[in-house]
Amino acid sequence: MKALVYDGPREVVVKDVPDARIEQPTDVLVKITSTNICGSDLHMYEGRTDLETGMVLGHENMGIVAEVGDAVVKVSPGDRVCLPFNIGCGFCRNCEEGLTAFCQTVHPDPKMAGAAYGFAGMGPFWGGQAEYLRVPFGDFNCLRLPEDAQDKELDYVMLSDIFPTGWHCTRLADMQPGDSMVVYGAGPVGLMAAYSAMLQGASKVMIVDRHPDRLKLAEEIGVIPIDDSKGDPIEQVLEQTRGQGADKGCECVGYQAHDPQGHEDSAMTMNEADQHITLT
Ligand SMILES: [Zn+2]
Ligand SMILES: [Zn+2]
Repeated sequence: MKALVYDGPREVVVKDVPDARIEQPTDVLVKITSTNICGSDLHMYEGRTDLETGMVLGHENMGIVAEVGDAVVKVSPGDRVCLPFNIGCGFCRNCEEGLTAFCQTVHPDPKMAGAAYGFAGMGPFWGGQAEYLRVPFGDFNCLRLPEDAQDKELDYVMLSDIFPTGWHCTRLADMQPGDSMVVYGAGPVGLMAAYSAMLQGASKVMIVDRHPDRLKLAEEIGVIPIDDSKGDPIEQVLEQTRGQGADKGCECVGYQAHDPQGHEDSAMTMNEADQHITLT
C-alpha cells in the first residue's frame, strides 16, 4: 500500500510499504477515506520529537471497515467508522475509568501508558495517512457512524481528535452553564473549544488570536473575537467582563507559543492567564 512515511526532520515521503493487515483476532482493518494533518504531525515533521524514521504518520482517521479479526463482534465490513487517535484496550483500569489516553496495556513497553497511531512515543502503531490502517481492539476503538457518514465525512472526521480535544479542554476547565470563557488560540482546537463552550451554555465566549481568517470563523459561530495585535488582550477581556476577568479559560495555543517577534516560550499563555481569568 502507499503511505506517508517520516524520513527525518522536514522529510516525509509517499512510498510503498507492506500492507496493513489483521495481526490479532481483535484487530479491524480500515480502508482510509479521510485523514487530517494535525499540529502534532508538524511537531514530529519539524524534528521536535524522537520519532523514528520509517513511521507512517496520521492519527486522525476515518474510513470503511475492510476486514475484521475472528474475535471482533461489534464492527462489520462495510461499516463507516471514525477512529479516535488514542488506542485503548477498553479493559484496563484506566480505560474502564474513561482515561483511554493512558491505556495500560496497548503500548508494548509496560512502563509506558497510552498509545496512538503514527505518533512519537506512543508505540509502534502505523498511522492512517495511508491506504489502510490496522486498528487494534477494533470493537473498542471503532466509532461506528450513522447513515449520513458519507455526506458529512468532513464533519465526522473531526471526531478523531480536534473536536473531542477542544471539548476536553472545556471539561478540564470545569466550565459550567452560565460561565464566561476565554480561549487562547483560534486554531482548530481553539475553535472547537470555543464551540464546545457555546454548546454547553457559556454566557459569553471570547477567543484571542491575531489571524483575521481565524477570528472571522470564530465570529461566525457567535464567539467574540479578541485581536491581540490591536490591543492588550488582557485589557480587552477585562472590558468584556466588567473588570472581573473570564470565569474559565482554555489554553489552545500549544507548546509552540511565541511572541509577535517569533521567540518561542511554551509557558507564555499560561503565565498571563491569572491576570484575566478568575482564580479558582
Ligand atoms: Zn491530532
Ligand atoms: Zn486500556
